[in-house]
Amino acid sequence: MFETLKIRKNQGAQAIPDITKAEIRKPFRGLPYLDGSRCGRCEICREICPVGAISLKPLAIDLGKCIFCGDCQRLCPKGAVSFTNFFKMASTSRDYLVVDGRKTGEEYLENAVNARREITRMFGSSLKLRQVSAAGCNGCEWELNASGNPNFDMGRFGIDIVASPRHADGILITGPISENMAPALEDAYMSTPDPKVVILAGTCAISGGVFEGSPALNREFLKNHPVDLYIPGCPVHPLTVVNGLIRFLGR
Ligand code: SF4
Repeated sequence: MFETLKIRKNQGAQAIPDITKAEIRKPFRGLPYLDGSRCGRCEICREICPVGAISLKPLAIDLGKCIFCGDCQRLCPKGAVSFTNFFKMASTSRDYLVVDGRKTGEEYLENAVNARREITRMFGSSLKLRQVSAAGCNGCEWELNASGNPNFDMGRFGIDIVASPRHADGILITGPISENMAPALEDAYMSTPDPKVVILAGTCAISGGVFEGSPALNREFLKNHPVDLYIPGCPVHPLTVVNGLIRFLGR
């Protein structure tokens, strides 16, 4: 026992003490900072974007589509696009993920998550999620796994991934939802007791990402069931996940 205590003392606390104040160093790409006044409307960014995430007039990037490759920042001749390391990008509104202008992280955060009172009341102190990888590449799945490790430790906020949808308060979807995974996703959703939430984690889940429009996808699920939280990223960063969930729960 003394050996164990000695190891514990040597290692110190593993968890990030205040997850809301954590920082991710560059070159992490988070919230884009778009300077429309510099944009020369050359359309280079729109042409090179592999997922059609950029629109002009005004210059805007859809975080639900963006795979954060950074090509638009690298190739813009006027320097109108840059990515900040602000990672708290989760939002309860799909429209809000379309970012235009020179928003600071704090300005973005102000209206990003609408922590509904019924969600706080029902799940505020405990949220158990069944994660469904609906044809994900395993990138977001790894990061979600990391969200529960001793470093990010979302379990300390009462948020856990559980093995069965019958033990869950909601479904957390990763991947673009392939035709083959659509029935399994529907089954998992139907097996989750009401009331339940639906959360999309990662670009593929939110928009289909690089697979958008593929005949191998079947995204009917999202037409039939409301989505409560969108967590952008490719893959999602554990700090984006944990901070998004905390705010979603009104904590
Ligand atoms: S960083 Fe996003 S918006 Fe820019 S080119 Fe890559 S996918 Fe498109």
